[in-house]
Amino acid sequence: MIHYHIIPVDPKAHLFAITMTVQTPHPKQVFSLPAWLPGSYMVRDFAKNIIDLKATGANGEPLTLTQLDKQTWSVVHQSTRVTLTYQVYAWDLSVRTAHLDMTHGFFNGSSVFLAAHGFEAGLHTVTMAAPTEPSLNEWRLATSMTRQSGDEFAFGEFCAQSYDDLIDHPVEMGLFTHASFEACGVRHDIVLNGRHRAHMPRLCQDLKAICEYQIKLFGTPAPFERYLFMTTVLDNGFGGLEHRASTALMCSRKDLPLSMDAPINNDYRTYLSLCSHEYFHSWNVKRIKPECFLPYQLEAETYTPQLWAYEGITSYYDDFLTYRAGLVDEQSYLDMLSETFTRVYRSQGRYKQSIKDSSFNAWTKFYKQDENAQNAIISYYTKGALFALYLDLTLRSETQGKYNLDDVMTILWQEYALQNRGTTDSCHQKIVERLLGRDCQDLFAYLDNTDDIPLAPLLAEFGVELTLRASNGAQDVGGGTAKGYEIAFGAKTQAAPMGLKVTTVAQGSPAHLAGLSAGDILIAADNLQVTGQFEAQLQQYPLGQGLGLHWFRRDELMTGELIIAEAPKDTVALSITDKDKLQAWLGR
Ligand SMILES: [Zn+2]
Repeated sequence: MIHYHIIPVDPKAHLFAITMTVQTPHPKQVFSLPAWLPGSYMVRDFAKNIIDLKATGANGEPLTLTQLDKQTWSVVHQSTRVTLTYQVYAWDLSVRTAHLDMTHGFFNGSSVFLAAHGFEAGLHTVTMAAPTEPSLNEWRLATSMTRQSGDEFAFGEFCAQSYDDLIDHPVEMGLFTHASFEACGVRHDIVLNGRHRAHMPRLCQDLKAICEYQIKLFGTPAPFERYLFMTTVLDNGFGGLEHRASTALMCSRKDLPLSMDAPINNDYRTYLSLCSHEYFHSWNVKRIKPECFLPYQLEAETYTPQLWAYEGITSYYDDFLTYRAGLVDEQSYLDMLSETFTRVYRSQGRYKQSIKDSSFNAWTKFYKQDENAQNAIISYYTKGALFALYLDLTLRSETQGKYNLDDVMTILWQEYALQNRGTTDSCHQKIVERLLGRDCQDLFAYLDNTDDIPLAPLLAEFGVELTLRASNGAQDVGGGTAKGYEIAFGAKTQAAPMGLKVTTVAQGSPAHLAGLSAGDILIAADNLQVTGQFEAQLQQYPLGQGLGLHWFRRDELMTGELIIAEAPKDTVALSITDKDKLQAWLGR
């Protein structure tokens, strides 16, 4: 049996201390930490944060640890018990690793719990000890891990049925705000840490609507006995990671609702969609999952072309379900969808990479995006969501409303997840072919090619018009009725002393042709100093005119000519043209 004891031993130094005990270990006992964690497809080498690792035997005698690679150690011994002690440095404020200071502690098991090889399938028990600093004696603890002792939200004893289970219940500790609600008879808890003024009853009301809708979509009972939403509230933050009975989220303070009756603004809508997204993953990826994740191989990359089905379909449903649960109206939902379209249409990379290619290369290209990403890659989240929309509308159209994407999801749930079968690279296509009664290579070709998915005619069938217009500047994310700039610059910038720092340059744009690159400091255009108003000022010049630019690259002054050109129509707005036809898709 494996037992861990973990304590936030020195919050000011961001250190957790862990003692791990293996009873009846193997004569050569191997230990390792994962290189990545499920849901976040990048090698993060968590073991680099392990400090002062030591091994002792049953009588406290020191044992020799041999390091085998960056994350693996072995102990050759003749003891009836091996105990490891180590510390983990926790100073990464993200949902993926661990973070500890005097305000709170958070960790994923994959950052702090070494696996004992050969024992992964057995019971793992954990003592979570409270910090000893007197000023932290009010701290409480939240996790979806099974509790064995201690009151609700107290530190205490916990257990997991396997190592895989152990690392799928992140832990939050501190002085968090708590509220709870029931959805379809299942207790759901919300825990917020960080400074905020959120109206908790409002959060409960809105999340309850989303959760109940999703549980009913896949069918009761829910696949967990209890669920926990954990959010770290920051001045500016966004992100989430799904787990089997919880989710760890980050949001901005302005994203949370302040009253029971405040209208749902764009910020709160984004937070609700994030919650909806991670909750949908409780089915789609935590239980319906690719064959190659059964079981997860966490020591190195696991390549799969299927992430479109897990992140793309989930991204389609996250916004869609906030509408279906009754929280936003039709046009508001179409505005959210317009933003997804716009993110795809602003990417030149969509002509160079297919959705399957994007998925396969998630480990490097998607998760390690650089300044050239928009020219080189497409997101399997956003274009995957458009592909999911394409499947949904095609199913509705060709079967006169008899089937839609929900039927694909419930088949995946019943025939794969509940049968403990992983999905194959072709099973989504086979399910759609079964529902449509025809070969669907024409539809699924859009996973492999780099064509724009022909959604405008399908949307028109459902009473929605898709219009393309020019962007109205950096704040324009799509949707709405803005007219858009006529003249394009083609580079994204941020304010810098002296001018503007170029962050990205779109291939083929006037900025690219003038010679600008990411990192350049643009200081003058037409012999005038540039400011944040630069793009608006460009609108006064006639098409075709050349404009002298001056910029610094490192400490070298460079010049070039910006040719005034028409802005590309890369911003999508969706509007309702026929409310009756819309019912066949957005009818509630
Ligand atoms: Zn996701």
